[in-house]
Amino acid sequence: MSTLSIDRLRHEGQAFTEAISREYYLAHSGLKATAELTPLYEQYAEIMTEESLALVLDAFRAAAPDSEEYPSLRQLLDWQVESQASRELAELDEREIAWESEAMIALPGGGAVPFQRASIDLANSTDRAERLALDQARARLVRAELAPIRLEHFQREREITEELDLADGYNATFDLLAGFSLLELRAECEQFLRDTRPIWDDVYPEFVKRELGIVPAEATRADALALMRARVFDGGFPSATMETRILDQVREMGIVPDADGRVIFDTGNREGKRARAFCSPVRVPEEVYLVLRPHGGQNDWNTFLHELGHALHFAYMRPDLPFEYRWLGDNSITEGYAMLFDHRMQDPRWLARYASLPRADIPRFLRSAGFEELQFLRRYCAKLIYETHLYSGDVAWSALPDLYVQLLNDATTFRYDPADAFVDVDPRYYAARYLRAWQLQALLNETLTERFNDDWWRNPSAGPWIVNELFAHGQRELAHEQAARVSNKSLSFAPLVRSVERLLG
Ligand SMILES: [Zn+2]
Repeated sequence: MSTLSIDRLRHEGQAFTEAISREYYLAHSGLKATAELTPLYEQYAEIMTEESLALVLDAFRAAAPDSEEYPSLRQLLDWQVESQASRELAELDEREIAWESEAMIALPGGGAVPFQRASIDLANSTDRAERLALDQARARLVRAELAPIRLEHFQREREITEELDLADGYNATFDLLAGFSLLELRAECEQFLRDTRPIWDDVYPEFVKRELGIVPAEATRADALALMRARVFDGGFPSATMETRILDQVREMGIVPDADGRVIFDTGNREGKRARAFCSPVRVPEEVYLVLRPHGGQNDWNTFLHELGHALHFAYMRPDLPFEYRWLGDNSITEGYAMLFDHRMQDPRWLARYASLPRADIPRFLRSAGFEELQFLRRYCAKLIYETHLYSGDVAWSALPDLYVQLLNDATTFRYDPADAFVDVDPRYYAARYLRAWQLQALLNETLTERFNDDWWRNPSAGPWIVNELFAHGQRELAHEQAARVSNKSLSFAPLVRSVERLLG
């Protein structure tokens, strides 16, 4: 056993992270029944001890905030804190993953549906009575079996974090380690919800009545899933041409889509594969998996673009960046690139060139994209507000389900189920990462348009710029730092409000 040093933490941290990532890739892609995490935590126990945390904490406290090592040490400290919590929660996480892959929803009329399929079936179901019955059966199962596991997870995570005593409570600890203020972001979310209330109240009844044919006040979150599935345009997004057309676009802007073999596309159907697409970097930048379980249509194209943004980011990072700038850091950066890619589906010229949507349908498609965008933004703003209460402890655990329903219903008008209060939570404030990514991609799109025109996505000079100025940097910068460097602007919801107004026009 050698003594601990920051460099040893970097090296073994990378080996450990790669091994864990491989387990998650194998489990979530259906190649292995469960992720075996506990043996890895045992093998690498020495780099996740009180001593290793203290070592990084001392170095972080000694570093001047404007020094070069400060951001690097902050990211390592964030990782140490997360690892300590993850190690203590590993058994619970394994239980959750195993439950998700085995759980069956018993249907009231007989028969059963795998839990993993529920969100796909809900979105695809055209019979409302059937949809609500499936969702109620799903909620019953979640309330009885999954919610208690998740509640225990959040309770223990909060305790573990607070016991470290880095700052005054979970939220202040998050601010310190993330380098931005949750309360400022929450205030922006509250402002966004107020600013877009009139436009939402205006479009919501129109879409719910027209697309679902139901009384707007009665629509539930399951109805929202079916509505967002927007089947009507699926013909314009054939699964047969998806990969070719999108990879053509990437080539046209001057980027090699598989990064010379570093990106591996896993897009076939397989039992046990997760419903949600994901990008799984296993070695960065050398081995990056893009996993997708196809269900067809517009959502597949959207997801494929999103995950491709992640995959290219990981595969084009500079290999000489230290561990923390390739594997750690502000995930608003990678989510920003993913969204920069998936938001091309809001661009009429992109649609005309790569999708098979009849031209006459494009205006109606864009309006529906605007509705969807506003729904998701309002949902994520409400989620962030809710999660600040969940983590801060200013609301009792038992009162959280009612608060969840109140905040989400109010923001989206769809009726939410209290059973989801601990399940519809992105761990460790991932909602904040998404919201800042949304803001970042809007600025990046403006910057790319200024430099390479409004069809930058097929300009052969744009790709090399994206690779060198964005992807190569890994996650060295925080989202607002990157916005300042490449756009000379601050992150805000303003460009998103403008783009939603344009789409809904
Ligand atoms: Zn993503």
